[in-house]
Amino acid sequence: MTSNSEDIETESVHVVVRVRPLNSKEEMQNCQNIISINHEENIIALENPKLPNMQCKSFKFDHVFFCDCTQLDIYQKVALPIVDQVFKGYNGTIFAYGQTGSGKTYTMSGNQTDNELKGIIPNTFSHIFSQISRASNEKSFVVTVTYVEIYNEEVRDLLSVHPNEKLEIRERVDVGVYVRGLTGFTVDSINAINELLQLGNSTRKTRATLMNNLSSRSHTIFTITIETKDREHNKTTVAKLNLVDLAGSERLKRTEATGIGLKEASNINQSLFVLSNVISALVEEKCTHVPYRNSKLTRLLQDSLGGNSKTAIITTISPNENDYDESLCTLRYASRAK
Ligand code: ADP
Ligand code: MG
Repeated sequence: MTSNSEDIETESVHVVVRVRPLNSKEEMQNCQNIISINHEENIIALENPKLPNMQCKSFKFDHVFFCDCTQLDIYQKVALPIVDQVFKGYNGTIFAYGQTGSGKTYTMSGNQTDNELKGIIPNTFSHIFSQISRASNEKSFVVTVTYVEIYNEEVRDLLSVHPNEKLEIRERVDVGVYVRGLTGFTVDSINAINELLQLGNSTRKTRATLMNNLSSRSHTIFTITIETKDREHNKTTVAKLNLVDLAGSERLKRTEATGIGLKEASNINQSLFVLSNVISALVEEKCTHVPYRNSKLTRLLQDSLGGNSKTAIITTISPNENDYDESLCTLRYASRAK
């Protein structure tokens, strides 16, 4: 397997872009692709469809994946190096950020029933359990998962038998920040962990249908905690991997049309804004104040962002000319993290 694990080891925040293909409806409507990519330089250029002869807006990232990128490509280049770091004891977080319909859920979860279409989360499961069986002579492992949804600054447990209950975030000196009453499941096989992902995703879908497409407005965090015990040295390490499918990044103007409340819309935009502030504070070496406490999302991820933690942001964008404004905002947001 090829991976750029060297980069991930030295840099704590890795930012990549993934452009989805035009879908069949867009092709039928003859929508134009306004994206071009320079693969050698990892530069993505966006052409303004209203000013086609003007200069393109260009952005440079750690990697740019175009329409032809497979699920396995992105797993191997972006996620695998972080999963390997988690086995070495570092916490890791992988975010999917972008407007609704740009491919966040496709990238993170994908289609679990088709091997080639599996997203980062199920590919991570396979990798974790193959690593565990490879090392099982010297080490023993305990893998625990939790799955939460944050919507309108309210935290809910997607694996609970009472998924509508709002949970509180607490902090304790010995355990740090935690969600009170959250169900953690210990898993010992790929099947068991896949079932939990499916359970959480179907809870998310049910709630989304009840509440006017809520899934585009909520963040989800799938957390895998790996406790490793080295038998010979009797040493235990614990590290966490958070796989985050963020709320759609589209601005207020668009969300207004869906009839959601102003407070809700501003909460969503606010939490993405806080995330961006946290990440840019972390990449700015001299910055001493990191505003984790300003949103539930960053508060929950506090111990997995910064310090020795490894972070990847996968920015998903649409190539469609009609999405130019959103794509430009998305790329500007992502480049703040560099
Ligand atoms: P989001 O979660 O950002 O709202 P989705 O992941 O649900 O977006 O993607 C929207 C649609 O586009 C889905 O039907 C999905 O299957 C499709 N899609 C997204 N990204 C890709 C891709 N890279 N290749 C093929 N289809 C994609
Ligand atoms: Mg989605």
